[in-house]
Amino acid sequence: MSERSREAVNEAGKQGEAVNEAGKQGKLIIFSAPSGSGKTTIVRHLLGRYPELIEFSISASTRPPRGTEVDGKDYYFISKDEFLHRVAKEQFVEFEEVYSGTFYGTLKSELERIWAAGKHVIFDIDVIGGLRLKRKFQEQALAIFVHPPSLEVLEARLRGRGTDSEEKVRERVAKAQKELAYADQFDVVLTNDQLEHAFKEAERLLLDFIVEDLAQ
Ligand code: ADP
Ligand code: 5GP
Repeated sequence: MSERSREAVNEAGKQGEAVNEAGKQGKLIIFSAPSGSGKTTIVRHLLGRYPELIEFSISASTRPPRGTEVDGKDYYFISKDEFLHRVAKEQFVEFEEVYSGTFYGTLKSELERIWAAGKHVIFDIDVIGGLRLKRKFQEQALAIFVHPPSLEVLEARLRGRGTDSEEKVRERVAKAQKELAYADQFDVVLTNDQLEHAFKEAERLLLDFIVEDLAQ
């Protein structure tokens, strides 16, 4: 990125409305939901389908990697000390102690990196973090709440995923119950029942929101 565009991105970033090198405004597409609703599945689908339009905001997290997760791809896995150091240096757009003792956050450098590459940023983020981003970026952001068909289905999906201990599943289900109450504060509620329907609906929402890019 040239010095001039870096300055433009920095300046716009301060004002909360970034432009990229082509002079287009970078947008935010936020997927939030209780854990187990299927937002990661939907976000991965969109990334596979529209890699030239969107890029994933890689969050920093203090939890250890699970399964096949890779540092710098799924998350930036960092220690709690480093996380708090970065908080003190105001490097986060938002951060949250999502689970007791476990922090997650969106680095300002992620937004700058993706916008500078001429793409929109797509987020897989918890409900409170998603609403924070929406409040901060307003019309520049589309906030989508992924709703499970029911709490029972959500619990079954968490167990089926097989990545969390019984205690973690119970913690996530208890949290989900509270998070569902925030759904109506989002721009759109997307019910993830039949996965193929949810994929199609997510594609339509994304394309409608960034329609001016497609017209060019
Ligand atoms: P989240 O990112 O919201 O925690 P995931 O995308 O990890 O949720 O989905 C939780 C589990 O449910 C995964 O095992 C995923 O494959 C499965 N899943 C997601 N959507 C559906 C769906 N519509 N029908 C059945 N299983 C689903
Ligand atoms: P997991 O441990 O299942 O990957 O994520 C736990 C929760 O943290 C999920 O709801 C996920 O969306 C959320 N999360 C991931 N990254 C961020 C982030 O940068 N900020 C916030 N507030 N939540 C995040």
